[in-house]
Amino acid sequence: MADDAAPPVPTPAQRKIIHVDMDAFYASVEQRDDPALRGRPVAVGGSRARGVVAAASYEARVFGVRSAMPSATAVRRCPDLVFVRPRFEVYKAISLQIRAIFADYTDLIEPLSLDEAYLDVTEDRHGLGSAKAIAEQIRARIRAETGLTASAGVSYNKFIAKLASDQNKPDGLCVIPPHKGAAFVASLPVKRFHGVGPVTAQKMERLGIQTGADLRDRPLAFLQAHFGSYADYLHRAARGVDDRPVRSNRPSKSIGAERTFETNLSEPAALHAAMETIADAAWTRVDRSGARGRTVTLKLRHADFHTITRARSLSHAVPDKAAFLAIGLDLLQAQLPVPGGVRLLGLTLSGILRDEAPDADVTAQPSLPL
Ligand SMILES: [Mg+2]
Repeated sequence: MADDAAPPVPTPAQRKIIHVDMDAFYASVEQRDDPALRGRPVAVGGSRARGVVAAASYEARVFGVRSAMPSATAVRRCPDLVFVRPRFEVYKAISLQIRAIFADYTDLIEPLSLDEAYLDVTEDRHGLGSAKAIAEQIRARIRAETGLTASAGVSYNKFIAKLASDQNKPDGLCVIPPHKGAAFVASLPVKRFHGVGPVTAQKMERLGIQTGADLRDRPLAFLQAHFGSYADYLHRAARGVDDRPVRSNRPSKSIGAERTFETNLSEPAALHAAMETIADAAWTRVDRSGARGRTVTLKLRHADFHTITRARSLSHAVPDKAAFLAIGLDLLQAQLPVPGGVRLLGLTLSGILRDEAPDADVTAQPSLPL
């Protein structure tokens, strides 16, 4: 499609960004793990007497219960509210599970918290044909592998992808193509914009800015006078423009799996069996990604949460699952016995040797539809 007569200025390929966000994450995990909580208004964190709600189930949200709300207010709004103590260790483990799923589709993953992340899927690694198809597959895998639902927004930049993931919650998908971006932003209340907190939203309201359209209609100089260095971002965002890259904070690529045990394991036989299961799960991901690596890393968490890693590198790529498991078992064996038992085991392949594509001429790349 490149025009030979045109100056050789590379036009950056249109990006495909997915924002994935788990639905009512902490509360959904508690409802998953305790059937008695399903269908009931649940608050994670706080207690009836004091504290602050960390997360609310959808049943609780109907009553106006929100995260960061004082427990006393929440109980006033929803007298039947059930308070559950948070289990961050479990949330963290699920977070790693979903990030391992993301890693099958792209190396450009920018987590915003345990339960949400931006993914740049401009390179369609598995040839699924569209970013929407990638998002649907990721949502299906999250549901299959964790028993939880996630919503996804698909668009051409981070700002709009994040707005879109919120659009059809829970268990929803929303695709905003480039020609609809500006109108979509214009239609939304500014308090939904990422970066516009309650204080900024109130300030905007005083200035008569309630929607994206209101914001778009204010000149840059006006925004600079009221919002300083933040003005440029707002001015562009209001037009559906956001060039911020997805910043992966994982410098080295690794693929693996880990499990937290309900009761700490001490018996060598039980630990070996667990290691086989983990190596199995990890190698399935290695296979799917097509990656090869030469470093195997064992992660082991003690009963007191003290966590160690031990790694071994080969001079060549680990050839198969049997070799991967054998190295894992060897690394584990050197740690036994573990006083108090093992709380978590993980096994990772890194030092990834991927067949890198040659530098592609971005102008010649077929455009992946959103
Ligand atoms: Mg969430």
